[in-house]
Amino acid sequence: MHVAVFAFPFGCHALALINLVQKLARAAQETQFSFLNTEKSNNSIFSASITSLPDNIKTYNVADGVPQSHVFSGDPIERVELFIKETPKNFKMALETAVAVTGQEISCLIADAFLSFSGSIAESLSIPWIPVWIPVPHSLSTHIYTDMIRQHYANSLGYGCSNSCGDGHDVELEEKTLEIPGLSELHIADLPVEVLPRDAQETPFSCLLGQIGNMVQKADTLVLNFYQELYPEPLLIDLKSKFSNLLNVGFISLSMPPPSLPPSTEDTTGCLSWLDSQKSKTVAYISFGTVVNIPRSEMEELAEALEESRTPFLWSLRENVRDCLPNGFLERTTMHGKVVPWAPQTQVLAHSSTGVFMTHCGANSVYESIANGVPMICRPFFADNKLNARLVADVWRIGERIDGGVFTKTGVARSLDLILQHEQGRRIRSRVQAIKELVLKASAPGGHATQAFKTLVEKMTLV
Ligand code: UDP
Repeated sequence: MHVAVFAFPFGCHALALINLVQKLARAAQETQFSFLNTEKSNNSIFSASITSLPDNIKTYNVADGVPQSHVFSGDPIERVELFIKETPKNFKMALETAVAVTGQEISCLIADAFLSFSGSIAESLSIPWIPVWIPVPHSLSTHIYTDMIRQHYANSLGYGCSNSCGDGHDVELEEKTLEIPGLSELHIADLPVEVLPRDAQETPFSCLLGQIGNMVQKADTLVLNFYQELYPEPLLIDLKSKFSNLLNVGFISLSMPPPSLPPSTEDTTGCLSWLDSQKSKTVAYISFGTVVNIPRSEMEELAEALEESRTPFLWSLRENVRDCLPNGFLERTTMHGKVVPWAPQTQVLAHSSTGVFMTHCGANSVYESIANGVPMICRPFFADNKLNARLVADVWRIGERIDGGVFTKTGVARSLDLILQHEQGRRIRSRVQAIKELVLKASAPGGHATQAFKTLVEKMTLV
């Protein structure tokens, strides 16, 4: 068997997918895996997070579509759009290379579901196509129902009109819940611009996402980075009615239960030894993922709140934005805070001193927090962040959204106080612990996620 895997090389999609592929490669050792991804993304996942791969995985680079000597504008979406223009040609070429190198035809195609064109490639090769949905399943549903959502809400919200109503987005309507099967817990405001474009502009990225709903429904098997136990029932029923094999294999980037650290674990960032010196459940861990840069004004408010409240904090903050911190902040907070350019996040969240995670609500961050039973303070920024924050704060009730949607000194201080000191915080913590237990049970032998993974291995190796 020779399984080809197509990765979407942005955000943390490729990292999540290679983690799944590693688990599959260990479970199906006779199967050869070819992992196709851009060189930049391959370099970043294999230098930072993964040092060695099972022998039955080979990686291949696909062209990223960036013209030679291209000058970037600074907008992160530019890279995505250049890459999209290069598809599917780049993947087809790398696929030919993989067949030539291994001497084996492809028997199954696993792909990040964002790359919906992969369905046609599998069809043309007459092989099974198994898309993997990396974000939360609620967001898949927003793509399946994009047309219905636009028809329902675009006009009533004034989207798609010219100047007269362009700025008049109806705030009250934005706060209405969605009348879409399985999505009644979400608000219109939670929808990313790719689903409901606020300025009526389609982009190559929104077009790509727009095709997902139709294409993915042609798949017989769909893999989800999620647990059956965490769905609202109507969403699970609706998705099951569309896919004969809906495989909720659990959080694919994580080992459940999280491995306990051997005493010899290298602590190159110093985060873990610093956490060792703090009291249990007192530290606020702060990180906004790999893409988001928070505005300078909000960074100042956040920093002032941390300084004044004297909350112990560990802040993962890239070097290039540190000059946005208030003058002298780092020196004045050395006794109760630590700022690092990169933190071993899963280990930080697993540490007993960590009391709360201040996050942008990227799916991986939310999953890692749940897996370690850590409550969240949510400041969503882009893509599916708002939708994830809604689930965290209002549906699972395992965190708090920041007051007014942006960091202010008083809002940050209030949220920290509530989660770390108050009864409400204690209740939030016990709910996230309960969800962690559900997830652990589903990942144990005989649990739903374990069963779904076994089915995936069977589907993938079916001749
Ligand atoms: N991450 C990390 N250390 C850091 C910052 C981020 O290990 O200092 C990891 C984090 O554990 C998560 C990923 O980067 O797995 C961020 O993914 P997420 O989906 O939360 O956000 P994105 O970067 O895609 O916006």
